[in-house]
Amino acid sequence: MKKRLVVLTGAGISAESGLRTFRGSDGMWEHENIEDVCTPRGYSRDKKRVKDFYNFLRLGLKDHEPNAAHIALAQLEKRLGNEMLLVTQNVDDLHERAGSRQVLHMHGALMRLACERNPNHRFVFTGEETMETRCPFCGAMSRPDIVFFEEQPQYMEEIQDALRECEEFVYIGTSSVVYPAAGFKSYAHSFGAKVTCLNLEVPASDPYTDVCIEGKASIIVPEWCDKFK
Ligand code: NAD
Repeated sequence: MKKRLVVLTGAGISAESGLRTFRGSDGMWEHENIEDVCTPRGYSRDKKRVKDFYNFLRLGLKDHEPNAAHIALAQLEKRLGNEMLLVTQNVDDLHERAGSRQVLHMHGALMRLACERNPNHRFVFTGEETMETRCPFCGAMSRPDIVFFEEQPQYMEEIQDALRECEEFVYIGTSSVVYPAAGFKSYAHSFGAKVTCLNLEVPASDPYTDVCIEGKASIIVPEWCDKFK
């Protein structure tokens, strides 16, 4: 179905829920070396360390609640139904806990595990992954369902189809430096979509963004969503 709206969210939408952003000075990766916990090489070198890192993040999610921005997007989905597609770079579950039913986690999700052998095997998982955790479909070793650097983001075909056809693309709380997500605005723009940015800081102007709204996500996202009434 042709989408009226495609929404892309990044770490900034979860910042006011107490989840650290990626590049902020208090960034959640500050104490970990990305090479160790977010690359295929790091995973091959020390699987337990990587599983433990994501266990820590997964188990910590219960201490964080969705904020007004997540809730506003969930309510917008109720109004727009299939005319809206929500894509997130976040691995947290705050969109789902706010009530969003259709969320494409392009960089993976903490609340899922994947299979080391078959990339199509993914399953919901809320506990602590160990070296003994197995894929329920084929018995191979599990791995975090996190897209490591150099791996292919998920749902790309579906996302690109929607970006080509949508009337409006909005990106919220993302620094727009991680590709391919950073390229969505130019892609949508080239197919005629209106492009809007909602962020704490308005980025340097770029030729693909038509409207920029500056402020905290918990304030500006609900206000922006109101226009779809
Ligand atoms: P980023 O940290 O690079 O950028 C965050 C952006 O959010 C910045 O532009 C900042 O100005 C903005 N921001 C901060 N607080 C805000 C607020 N209260 N309201 C509105 N905007 C705010 O994050 P990114 O662009 O999403 O890229 C980082 C990568 O790291 C992502 O791909 C994601 O997978 C991962 N990550 C995920 C989480 C999570 O799941 N919550 C958290 C950190 C990082």
